[in-house]
Amino acid sequence: MTAAPRHQHWIDGRDAPPAGGTWLTTLDPATRAPGDPIAAGTAPDVDRAVAAAERARHGWAALSPAGRSSVLHRIADAMEEDTPTLMRLERECTGKVPAQLRLEADLSVQYFRYYAGVVRAAGQGRVIEQGAGAHTYTRHEPYGVVGVITPWNLPLNQACRALAPALATGNAVVAKPSEFTSASTLRLARLASRAGLPDGVLNVVTGTGPQAGAALAAHPGVRRLAFTGSVATGRLLAATAAGRLIPLTLELGGKSPLLVFADADLDAAVAAAVSALAANAGQVCSATTRLLVEESVHDEVVRRVVTAVERLRPGVDFGPLITEAQYEKVLGLLAGTPGAATGGGPYTEGPAARGLYVRPTVYPRVDPGARIAREEVFGPVLVTLPFRDEAQALRLANDTDYGLVAAVWSGDLARGLRLAEHIDAGQVAVNGGPLTVETPFGGYKQSGHGREKGLAALHEYTQLKTISARL
Ligand code: ADP
Repeated sequence: MTAAPRHQHWIDGRDAPPAGGTWLTTLDPATRAPGDPIAAGTAPDVDRAVAAAERARHGWAALSPAGRSSVLHRIADAMEEDTPTLMRLERECTGKVPAQLRLEADLSVQYFRYYAGVVRAAGQGRVIEQGAGAHTYTRHEPYGVVGVITPWNLPLNQACRALAPALATGNAVVAKPSEFTSASTLRLARLASRAGLPDGVLNVVTGTGPQAGAALAAHPGVRRLAFTGSVATGRLLAATAAGRLIPLTLELGGKSPLLVFADADLDAAVAAAVSALAANAGQVCSATTRLLVEESVHDEVVRRVVTAVERLRPGVDFGPLITEAQYEKVLGLLAGTPGAATGGGPYTEGPAARGLYVRPTVYPRVDPGARIAREEVFGPVLVTLPFRDEAQALRLANDTDYGLVAAVWSGDLARGLRLAEHIDAGQVAVNGGPLTVETPFGGYKQSGHGREKGLAALHEYTQLKTISARL
């Protein structure tokens, strides 16, 4: 029998064993079978990676945008060719279903294509007119070494969302993926090297948050951080960044509302609600898992959602929860919350009982103050609340500590747009309006700050310099 392959760090364009000589175990959440061990990174590994990035950053930043763009296009090509392997690595540690894997793999490529394109046209600064005696202009310059810390829910996708704009704008990066789901990010770094990214421009150090992640955030060579993950860890990293006076982007949680008015296309609204619960088994920070429905159609909508949800097949339509800790947390919350119209616990028989699958769950007419109505569950769980009119709908929509996204479904587009402008959230989709790579993404309130995606992300990864010469 051959030993399981071990995933080493990727530093300075090659594999690097962990300085401490220790490895972390991983798990296939669909079966609970053990997965490939990954390097347990510690401060010396982070030191090596930051040093490599520091050496590489000047040369990378000195390339023209067109030069960096062509490397990013080649990375996108390499990812496209390698999609089966990227999907397999992602499946082995997340248990995601094929359609979800494909969606995420395609979107990951799109980040590189998009920023390869826009970096040639955007962010080049401007001339400020001050009369004949001066020449004054601005430049968008990279920070230098950027630390990117990503979670386990959409591993490759979250990495690419930050890496593509950070690299496009001329930064070097040290990425620290989640210790549960590191393989796809390591593979990406290897592909990027093969595609011509200079050694040291993208490094990946794996390991736990408290060891590898904290060392990266605290490293004096790291000039900016991008973090996607929990509110608790976001707060810790914000404190570290405050101590070091460096900026950071925080993409945190959500408890996003989906508003359905009686005049909406109910088929489409019901499908959107079911998808919020099923897509990635609800482990999406932007999942719209608070279903607010106008009283006159509330029970009908809930009945239709429940019927659709009961048809969802574990392992086919939705995957397991990705970590054991998350599985236990969700089951604990469900066990303490009576009143589910469907679901409410684990699978007790069949293949799904072997994995970390949670039965899709709907709680109708919850108390707006209840834990289940207020906390982000990060599992296949919807709550519903009825509303009488537009004013109450808006109050309920904003009655949350979070503000990541919202969805409004109404046959009255003016009402949809009116509400969208008053909902405290970073992005609002009216009647299924598309939110894509082109559209800026980020939170209001406890959902974080800073923006990823779109042209907005270019500003996150560059700092503005003004140069003025007296002529
Ligand atoms: P979850 O609790 O859902 O696992 P986290 O916010 O803890 O989410 O994890 C997101 C990312 O943050 C992971 O890569 C994790 O290793 C990292 N992380 C966790 N704790 C810390 C920390 N104290 N410092 C830096 N990174 C951390």
